[in-house]
Amino acid sequence: MTRLIYVNGDFLPEQDAKISVLDRGFLFADAVYEVSTILDGKLVDNKAHLRRLARSLSELDMAAPCSDEDIIAAQHKLLELNGVKEGLLYLQVSRGVADRDFPYPEHSESSLVMFTQAKNILDNPKIKSGLKVISTPDLRWKRRDIKTVGLLAPSMAKQEALRAGADDAWMVEDDFITEGTSNNAYIVTPDNVIKTRHLGNEILAGITRTAVLKFAKEAGIDVIEEPFTVAEVKQAKEAFITSASMFVMPVVNFDGDDVGNGKPGPITIQLRKVYIATAMERADL
Ligand code: PMP
Repeated sequence: MTRLIYVNGDFLPEQDAKISVLDRGFLFADAVYEVSTILDGKLVDNKAHLRRLARSLSELDMAAPCSDEDIIAAQHKLLELNGVKEGLLYLQVSRGVADRDFPYPEHSESSLVMFTQAKNILDNPKIKSGLKVISTPDLRWKRRDIKTVGLLAPSMAKQEALRAGADDAWMVEDDFITEGTSNNAYIVTPDNVIKTRHLGNEILAGITRTAVLKFAKEAGIDVIEEPFTVAEVKQAKEAFITSASMFVMPVVNFDGDDVGNGKPGPITIQLRKVYIATAMERADL
């Protein structure tokens, strides 16, 4: 079955799904996106993703392509048409087509593109082994709170990690970890406190982060939202990442050294279990 892709109101076979070369998403990375997880044919935390999309659009003075209700209706139809039960739904809004020039065009129509990718989300083989992570300088721009498609710096970092035989990179600015290439970063300190960077322009406000920090607090685990250094990772008992597609995933090696005993830690495993157990309750589409 050919996958159908949503492009501005139409559901088109993959080979016919096209956007103009004059689209500002193509020319300027003038576009924002969201990735939500499909579990049992439903989208997890979709409303929270749509809220973050609205914020990204507003920070860039970009018009929404249509109402949230229209987006949700199209998402629903796309899931049905493609019959994906587990995987990802990618959604991208760009400022649309205009002659190439730096200022925002006065008259352009935002475009909306969405597609699904089937993927094993629950059964990720890395759960048992954990991830190997390297540190690398954070080369990104200074508005990482806006989820734009300008993703070359994290792509370079991820590529560097793979070349080094690792799974991912944690990006470092002024000796503090900002976040992973496509995830938020956490350590568990020697006194069992979860540390993750506070929200601000330096990192993306992960939807999974919000859910997981809430679960940690409910479980009586102390959480400190402040930056941590490379040296603190080396001293940590556990480390992990969160993202919509990875949920909670253990980090067992950092720059070639074991984190803790080099195995997924108990707090990480506990949070992953709670996240998965409640994911279907949070499947809101
Ligand atoms: N930080 C960055 C840079 C990301 O790309 C992502 C994934 N979108 C996240 C954090 C995690 O966000 P979420 O939990 O909403 O997937």
